[in-house]
Order: sequence, then C-alpha cells, then structure tokens
Amino acid sequence: MVKICCIGAGYVGGPTMAVIALKCPSIEVIVVDISAARIAAWNSDQLPIYEPGLDEVVKQCRGKNLFFSTDVDKYIREADIIFVSVNTPTKTRGLGAGKAADLTYWESAARMIADVSQSDKIVVEKSTVPVKTAEAIEKILTHNSKGINYQILSNPEFLAEGTAIKDLFNPDRVLIGGRETPEGQKAIQALKNVYANWVPEERIITTNLWSAELSKLAANAFLAQRISSVNAISALCEATGANVAEVAYSVGKDSRIGPKFLNASVGFGGSCFQKDILNLVYICDCNGLPEAANYWKQVIKINDYQKSRFVNRVVACMFNTVSGKKIAILGFAFKKDTGDTRETPAIDVCKGLLGDKAKISIYDPQVTEDQIQRDLAMNKFDWDHPIHLQPMSPTAVKEVTVTWDAYEATKGAHGVCILTEWDEFKTLDYAKIYANMQKPAFIFDGRNVVDPEKLRQIGFIVYSIGKPLDP
Ligand code: NAD
Repeated sequence: MVKICCIGAGYVGGPTMAVIALKCPSIEVIVVDISAARIAAWNSDQLPIYEPGLDEVVKQCRGKNLFFSTDVDKYIREADIIFVSVNTPTKTRGLGAGKAADLTYWESAARMIADVSQSDKIVVEKSTVPVKTAEAIEKILTHNSKGINYQILSNPEFLAEGTAIKDLFNPDRVLIGGRETPEGQKAIQALKNVYANWVPEERIITTNLWSAELSKLAANAFLAQRISSVNAISALCEATGANVAEVAYSVGKDSRIGPKFLNASVGFGGSCFQKDILNLVYICDCNGLPEAANYWKQVIKINDYQKSRFVNRVVACMFNTVSGKKIAILGFAFKKDTGDTRETPAIDVCKGLLGDKAKISIYDPQVTEDQIQRDLAMNKFDWDHPIHLQPMSPTAVKEVTVTWDAYEATKGAHGVCILTEWDEFKTLDYAKIYANMQKPAFIFDGRNVVDPEKLRQIGFIVYSIGKPLDP
C-alpha cells in the first residue's frame, strides 16, 4: 500500500488530502501538523475550515484511509510520498521584507524530513513557493541524506477557497514538475499514478521543476491582474456614466478574453494573490528585471486604490463625515463560501471607516467575533515601505460590534456596506432593513450583489462599484 504523508493541515493540505483519500482507497493518507488544535479539529465534527462539501468527504474516509495526527516524525518516516503544504507568507523582516516569501516553515519541514527519514522519498512541493525553491530543498535533503534518495517534485495547488472540493474533483489541470533524470521521471510517474485515479490523463501536465514552480505564481498574478484591470475600468465607469457590468460583459464576449473573473469589486483579498505577486516582484528584482517588477506591482497598487476609493466614496456620500455614524458591514470573509479573512478587503475598509470615527456593526455568516477583532487589531504591513503601521487603537476597536444577523447589524444604521458576495445578501428583505435605518439610508455595494434600481425604489441612496451614481 502506497503511503502518503502531508505536512500542513491547512486550507490546502486538509481538503487536498481528503480528496486523494476518497479517490484512492488503496492509498493511506496521513495529514500531520504541528498545531495540535488544528489536528484536534480535523478529528472532530467541527472541521477547522469551512468549505462546501468538505465535511462529507472527510466523513467518508476519516478513520479508513485518511488520518490526522501530530506525530509528524512517525508519519514522515513511514511515507513513500511526502506532500509539503505549509504556509509560505510574505517575509516581514530582514532581507526581502515586504516582498519575498518566508520559507522558514518550508525549511523546517525539509529538515524534519532529513532528520527522520530512513528510506527513499518523493517530496512534493504543494505550497506555493518561489521559482528555484526545489534547488534549496534538494541541498538541505542531499547534504543530510544518509544514503537516502530524495526526488523533489513541484505540484502546485490551483484550488480556490469556497470551491475547493469542486476544483479538486474536477481540476482544469494538475501540474507536476520534476527533474529530467530517469529518477525524476520515475517520481513524476508515481505522482501521476495517484492523480490518474480520477483526473483524465490529458489534464495532467508534466514540466520541468522551474516551469511548474513559476506557473503557480504566474497563474495567480494573471488572475489578480484581471481583477485589477476591471477595477481600474470601474473607476472610469463611475466618472463617465458607463456601467462596469455592461463593459465587462462586452469585453468578455471576445473569445480571446473570456467572461470569467471580470467582476468589479471592492478589491481582491485572500492569503495568496497579494503575497504571490509580491513574491513575483521580488524574484523579478533579484533577477535584474525592474520593469517586469513594476508591471506586477501595479496590480497591487490598483487593488489598494480600489479599497481606499471605496472608503472615500462612503465618506463623501455621507456628507463628508462618518464620525459617530453607525455603518453596517455585511460580509467580512474575503469571498463567499469561506470563513477565511486573510487579507480580506473588509479589514482595510473597516479600518478606513474607523479612522473617520464611524461605529461599525459587522455580520458575516461564517466569521466569528474573535476572528474579526483579531484581524482589526493586527498591524498592517506596508509592502512598499517595510515598516509596521500603527495597530488599531483599543478605543477604535471598541467601536466595532459583531452580530449574527444582517437585520440586527443594520438596525439604526446610517449606511450599509456589502463587502462579501454571500448569496444570502441578494435575498434580504431590504424594505425591512430600510425601515429600521436612519434616513437618508445609504447602501454601498462593494460586490454588485444587489439591484441598485430596486433599492432606489425602496428609498435608499445607492452606490454600486462601477455603476452610474444616483441621479
Ligand atoms: P495554512 O496556514 O492554512 O496551513 C498551513 C499549515 O502548515 C498550518 O496548519 C501550520 O500549522 C502547518 N505547518 C507549518 N509548519 C509546519 C511544520 N514544520 N510541520 C507541520 N505543520 C506545519 O495555509 P494554506 O492556506 O493551506 O496554504 C498552504 C500553502 O498553499 C501556501 O504556500 C499557499 O500559498 C498555498 N496555496 C493556498 C491556497 C489557498 O487557497 N489557501 C491555494 C493554493 C495554494
């Protein structure tokens, strides 16, 4: 029986391994993590992450061929294939601070593998890493090899949070990069055999190691770039009376462009887009390519611009001040169908409004009060000027309340900001919300989820990203 160990039981390691276990009943899959709390949650009825369909997959295989454990050494030692799916955040200090990927967790995982292994291993990069990381990992492993043969593969993960299970069941492609040596090709084949249990052969792409590593960074940069492109157009739409939905539809009808990922919004978030672009910028700089670096930097600048443009619009519409006014925030997660708040634009929007002394009441169906308070109290790292900005003052954080109901959050509010595109926000009783708000009542739709005309008929003053303003 092939044994797989995955180091890192996070948003990627957990769902990916659960799907491998489900699709490959003859493979034993053990997910290990240094966080005892995370492992306990994976072994409980309350999984540590919210992802549609995940509970069912885990329930079907946990205890059969899927296991979660903190015994990292034991399961590394027993595994034939080791996936490493640890976090690779942006460095916050030292060389490359604010841009480069922090590979501390990766290095420590590699050293653990070197310390405890007693047989040959295939080590798979599942985390998103800078191009050439495999070279560093190879050095750590081979210099400590004790005669063991290690083959490093790059197998980046392309799932999107909120649709992870769907994406894993039916991936657009599975990418495997490896060495061009016979051993490297044998390792690629071993990993291909795992995916071949459910992924059609034509969707399994094999490349050299560096192409695979760079493809993941490039894919995220392209996706984020589309959002920044449509957001830059949304600003021009507001200035000219064009409607971004109509423009995006017309642009997307060109088969060379396509319709997906062209929704204007308050900005992208999530743990990946910004960090991966910063990483790309850093790699371009390190390779003496400043113009390429500047090109990608602009994608993040537009994203920051879009968030501050939204805050400024809210304040300007509300007679140039939100001081002492209650603003309801609907949605705090960075996108719908996840409870993940990493880099969510809601953090910047809330901080912007709190900076103008607003009182904030937040509702999100999947985000807890603790998480919101923690996010708002955290320092924000300024990637262009790597110094820590001031954290929120305790008094500002006190101006935040978190509710478990959209109607409660909006009661007595002067304005409502929709910051996540949760489906339930489309069907709220907006007449009831209007009746319980201060007048004039404002809605600022940062995700274009509500019909501005219908809301205007109720009596709201409406601002929707990229759409014509109130007459
Ligand atoms: P995460 O923070 O949710 O999970 C990482 C886990 O690794 C944590 O539970 C942490 O405790 C564990 N860990 C760290 N060092 C360890 C060690 N030495 N031994 C054992 N466990 C250790 O991160 P994530 O969102 O799952 O992302 C993981 C990687 O996948 C990142 O490189 C990310 O860029 C990439 N990725 C993420 C997504 C996504 O949507 N979240 C999608 C594709 C790729």
